[in-house]
Amino acid sequence: MTFMPPTHNNNPHLPFGDQRTAPWYGKDILSVKQFDRNKLSYTFEVAHEMRIMVERIGAFDLLKGKILANLFYEPSTRTSSSFTAAMERLGGSVIPINEVRYSSVSKGESLPDTVRSLECYADVIVLRHPEVGASSLAAKYARKPVINAGDGIGEHPTQALLDLFTISEELGHLDGLTVTMLGDLKNGRTVHSLARLLSLYDVKLNYVSPEILKMPKEIIDEIDAKGLQQSEYKQFDDVISESDVLYVTRVQKERFKDKKEYESVKGAYVITPKTMVKAKEKMIIMHPLPRVGEISMELDDDPRAAYFRQMEYGLYIRMALLAMVLGKA
Ligand code: ASP
Repeated sequence: MTFMPPTHNNNPHLPFGDQRTAPWYGKDILSVKQFDRNKLSYTFEVAHEMRIMVERIGAFDLLKGKILANLFYEPSTRTSSSFTAAMERLGGSVIPINEVRYSSVSKGESLPDTVRSLECYADVIVLRHPEVGASSLAAKYARKPVINAGDGIGEHPTQALLDLFTISEELGHLDGLTVTMLGDLKNGRTVHSLARLLSLYDVKLNYVSPEILKMPKEIIDEIDAKGLQQSEYKQFDDVISESDVLYVTRVQKERFKDKKEYESVKGAYVITPKTMVKAKEKMIIMHPLPRVGEISMELDDDPRAAYFRQMEYGLYIRMALLAMVLGKA
């Protein structure tokens, strides 16, 4: 494909077009429920273009003059820095509020007031918050687009989009795959969002977790209603050989009220090179990171270990989402 600078693109079939007709212009991204297969293909097409452009020219001025407010009430390494990198590679800039305790939040300011203040300076707000539904609340009050970067144990839609994009770029297709999710499926918001997105495809889902960390029933029921095959396991040995994707998660220590309960499950699973002997040759291991012992570092050189590549796909997805909600894609 011939590369065209995005600002000079008048072709309606290419992803960079006119703000007035851009389908996501001014929209919030709060849940994966906003996406169907067409919208996902569109997003992935834009993300793929972003990848090509980063690889060829590194940065370009699609969002020159635009400002992102990165508002994080919970710790983050990848999500916050990849949104910053995404905005800056597109020529925009960022107001980073990673330590809300140093902002007026510590004086007791409410979330609606904080977002209404930030949108006076910014064009888009990325929000991470410990409470489920916080981003919907923020979006209710904000005039500018709000992107949910994780709301407690609720959803993490941009992570699920990058996870799905990773699978599609690495394995070339989504239909027909067997995806095994392992670890803390109760508190892990990334698996909640990913399972919902995968239910738009013809996939088989396996859930491996300790009894107290099972995938929530409401999500299983939701996916069941779409007719997907789902199975639950306690041990991963039973399912490694059939998995095309092994999606590993950490036990979410910060969500446990009872620390003894956390201690009882924290080392439940460790994936090592020995585990992979039974795995397919063409499959991938993913992890939203941070890992805290669930995947041994000895596995990092295995070409099937996709978790660091997965982070890079996150940059392209977040570039695509920012361009979309700011009317440039
Ligand atoms: N970074 C991911 C999240 O924010 C996964 C994790 O923290 O375990 O949900």
